[in-house]
Parts: sequence; structure tokens; C-alpha cells
Amino acid sequence: MSIAIRQIQKTFGDFVALDNVNLDIASGELLALLGPSGCGKTTLLRIVAGLETPDSGQILFHGEDATERHVRERKVGFVFQHYALFRHMTVFENVAFGLSVRPRATRPPKEVIREKVMSLLKLVQLDWLADAYPSQLSGGQRQRIALARSLAVEPKVLLLDEPFGALDAKVRKDLRRWLRRLHDEMHITSVFVTHDQEEALEVSDRVVVMNHGRIEQVGSPASIYDDPASPFVTQFLGDVNLFHGRVEAGRVAIGDYQHKLEDATRDGDATIYVRPHDLEVSRDEDRALASGTVEHIHAVGPVVRVELNSLSGQVIDVALNRDDYRALGLMLGDQVFVRPKKVAVFVDEGAN
Ligand code: ATP
Repeated sequence: MSIAIRQIQKTFGDFVALDNVNLDIASGELLALLGPSGCGKTTLLRIVAGLETPDSGQILFHGEDATERHVRERKVGFVFQHYALFRHMTVFENVAFGLSVRPRATRPPKEVIREKVMSLLKLVQLDWLADAYPSQLSGGQRQRIALARSLAVEPKVLLLDEPFGALDAKVRKDLRRWLRRLHDEMHITSVFVTHDQEEALEVSDRVVVMNHGRIEQVGSPASIYDDPASPFVTQFLGDVNLFHGRVEAGRVAIGDYQHKLEDATRDGDATIYVRPHDLEVSRDEDRALASGTVEHIHAVGPVVRVELNSLSGQVIDVALNRDDYRALGLMLGDQVFVRPKKVAVFVDEGAN
């Protein structure tokens, strides 16, 4: 089922929660809505679900206008952050719920329900817990049961609102890989809301970055990460160092450092964004972007994080792989120079 979101506008009183949102979601796609708290992700998800009505604009399901369609007619499955399982029902009864409450005419026979529920429990790898009660499950298991329950009614669209938000980091990581595998098996058009950039980049086919009720950028995880379209997206996607310089005639310059820009940009004062792992450290001063004193070294794990303090007082974060770190023989207090391997450059708003 494809979904088209057309010129959606939504206000709460004077507050504009969604401002002219347009988006096409392909059938079978796994899409992440990513953005900071309050940017409108949940509101957009609820409008797609039919739980909220837009002030204007349209939602099309498979090309047909579904804006006025009742939530029950949209064939959507939901999973929310706080797994709302029924406490007094077993896992089996929870998953069977959506089917067993159907009117008699459309309710499948008991045996069919049993088979279906057990196959879903196998799918989420929890068939051995069929007779357990929610209170006996871990948070991750509850969330998998909530997902099985939402799949029982064979939704055409699956909507997940921070489905793993309440779980600890390790369980979250396992569950998001598991969700990806499950999606690859079932191919249900799925939209999930997260404010966790790593989660969005790892799990989804495409990421939609939102800010202040608007879509800032849509693209594959790799394209969004490698080619962010705005300062907001650059900063929201992960740690980044900022340097101030100037763009002139297609080149950006900061002190002795110069870099030819691939895309045409107007002239003006500009900010250069460099991720910690895109900075090269050396003892060679030639055409360096900046210099700094080694202030802190965090050498646990495959990546060594080094904090430099520049003369102007700026902290520069560098992430080195272990071999490069060893080859450099860095010590606290050393003075070193950095050069970027990759940059994102944006001319400052209003600058000329
Ligand atoms: P979070 O990650 O914190 O859930 P979000 O991006 O999902 O944030 P929304 O829940 O969509 O954000 O809310 C967007 C904005 O609209 C927020 O500022 C919120 O306070 C406001 N809002 C949402 N629902 C209502 C409502 N029913 N009445 C008034 N304001 C609302």
C-alpha cells in the first residue's frame, strides 16, 4: 500500500504543528520520521492513521483519498512506545484480541485464530511464552508481542511511534535489527517515528528529517548522512565540529586552508561542518584547518576519541582509528594540526 501525504497543515490553537507537509511513501517501504521533540512527527503519524484530522491537505492510500476515512477503515496497525498490552490476558489472548472481537460474521473460526496467533508468535520468536502474562515479560518481549498483536489483523500499513523508546540501549539495538529483518520478510509499508538518529539511519530505507513542523530533507540513510541539505540536518545527525570561514568564487577559505566547493554557492561568511572521524590529525602545519593542544584522550574501543583545545578556546573533537592513533603517538599536551577529509559548507543566513 503506497501512501501520499499532500500539503498537510495542522495547527493547535496558534501553534503550527505541521506546515505544508508533502511526502510519498512507496509500497513496502520502511520509512523513519526523525526529528527533535515537538517537531510534529507524532502528529503526522496520527494523521496518517486517522487518529487526528488535518486542517487542510490530503492523505491518499494507494492513490485514493483516505483523508475522511475512519481509522478502522484504513487497515493500519499501531505500535506505541508504551506497549499497551492487556494485563489480565495471556500473551496468546493479547495477540488474538483484534481477531476475536470481530463481529461474528467476519470472525475467523477458533482454530484459524489459534493457528494465526501461533504463527505470529513464532515470527516474533516468542511462541514459548504464549501462556505467560505481560507482567512476566521483559520490556523487549512486550514490545515484540505488541508488534505481533498489531500484525494479527493483517494491516496494510504499520505505524510505529517510538516503538523502542522505553527500552534500554542494548535491547533497543537488538530490537531494531530484528524489526528490519521482520520487515524484509513481510514487506508491509511501515512508518516509524524516532528522535534517535542512529536508529533511523540503521533501520530504514529512507529517512525523513523534520524540524518545526516541516520536512527538512528526505533520502536514503547514506545520502542524508553524507550529503546533509542544511545546517540543522548536519547537526542533528551526529557530532560535528564547526569552523567559521568565508566562501568566495566557489572556494571556501579558513586561514591557510582552502577547499574548492563542488556545488555552486553564493559568496559570504560561512560555516564549515566536519564530523570527528572526517578530521585528519598530523604534526604538519601546512594548510591546516586548525591547530590545537591534545587535552583529552579516550582510548577505549575501536575508535579513539581525542579532544583538542584550539588557541581560540574551541574544543575540536576527533575520532581516530586505533592504527592512526598509534602511528601518531599522541600524548596529552602535544600540539597538532587538523585537516578535513570531508566537509559540509553552508553560507551563513543573511551573510554576504
Ligand atoms: P515528541 O518526540 O516529543 O513526541 P513530536 O515530534 O512527535 O515530539 P508532536 O507530538 O507531533 O511532536 O507535537 C508537535 C507539537 O504539537 C508539540 O509542540 C505539541 O506540544 C503540539 N501538540 C501535539 N498535540 C497537541 C494537542 N492535542 N493539543 C495541543 N498541542 C498539541
